[in-house]
Amino acid sequence: MSKVHPLIALKAKPFLKDYKRVLNAIKRYDRIAIFRHIMPDFDALGTQMGLATWIKDNFPNKEVKVLGDNHVTFTPRLFPEMDSLNESWFREPFLAIILDTGNVKRIADPRFKKAKFKIKIDHHPAIEHYGKINIVDDNDAAASELVCNMIMSFKGDYVLSKLAASYFYIGIVGDSGRFQYSSTSPHTFAICEKLLESGIELTSVYQKMYVKKVDDLKVTAYILNNYHISPNGVAYYVLDANIQKELNITTERGKENVNLFSNIEGIGIWCSITEDPKDNCWRISIRSKEICINQIAAKWGGGGHAQASGAQIKNLGQLDAFISDLDELLK
Ligand code: AMP
Repeated sequence: MSKVHPLIALKAKPFLKDYKRVLNAIKRYDRIAIFRHIMPDFDALGTQMGLATWIKDNFPNKEVKVLGDNHVTFTPRLFPEMDSLNESWFREPFLAIILDTGNVKRIADPRFKKAKFKIKIDHHPAIEHYGKINIVDDNDAAASELVCNMIMSFKGDYVLSKLAASYFYIGIVGDSGRFQYSSTSPHTFAICEKLLESGIELTSVYQKMYVKKVDDLKVTAYILNNYHISPNGVAYYVLDANIQKELNITTERGKENVNLFSNIEGIGIWCSITEDPKDNCWRISIRSKEICINQIAAKWGGGGHAQASGAQIKNLGQLDAFISDLDELLK
């Protein structure tokens, strides 16, 4: 890899000791499993696949596994299938690297607990330090940005392949809202400059990330005909199980239209509310223009970032109270 960019070196400074410990752990273990959060998004999967690919490229003799649920539409369009492992795999010593996940409850596969050594690397506000090494920086736009800062700071002659770089780029683009959110910094661009140097093809990456089908337009049409706005500017839409069936979408896809409301004057916060019959709850994705919403998300069984969080309600009887909590923020 070429010389370290000064912004990358500056950001890495407080973490250098831990980065070295991570590299040593990677070298020490021949069996490595990489985890991330449930209901994965671009960043969870991009960081996971990016790091798995980087380790395989640089340590080809290691056994590297990626664990967790596949994504309803990103697999296999953007990312390969996750590994499916028998219990016996977890009986031998292995290193677990858990990415982009603030707390244990959200780790997508509980078998990380069986690891001999655990490393947490995350950009959510620090809730739980569940690793032996915990590298957390909630100033980063994406977990991919933090992991790239780490691998670009490793001392040694390591390669960053085009494939690994494209996974990391997807993570950064996804969690920064294509470089729109205030978490995007000069450091985000310094990392992306390095990723582009590996030869990734931007047009193809963006096409794969954001391609839609004609049927998706029916979902958008339904939402535009049925959304609500609270007195102070919280926009929201509700997709119950029946309408999901009618529109032929899964619960996970319910939030995909949430950003339809992102650039509308007078709308400061916007949410999708999607019934999840499997878990007997309503899943909520919350986004905001400026106001910090993660405390309200935490109050309603969730959490996340200042401008992008997730929460839950048990039934629609709680919806008015939830919306009114957000509406208060905009007064
Ligand atoms: P989502 O709306 O599901 O895309 O989530 C937005 C952001 O909030 C992501 O960074 C998630 O990791 C985070 N998030 C979502 N749900 C939760 C939760 N229950 N607890 C903590 N963080 C969450």
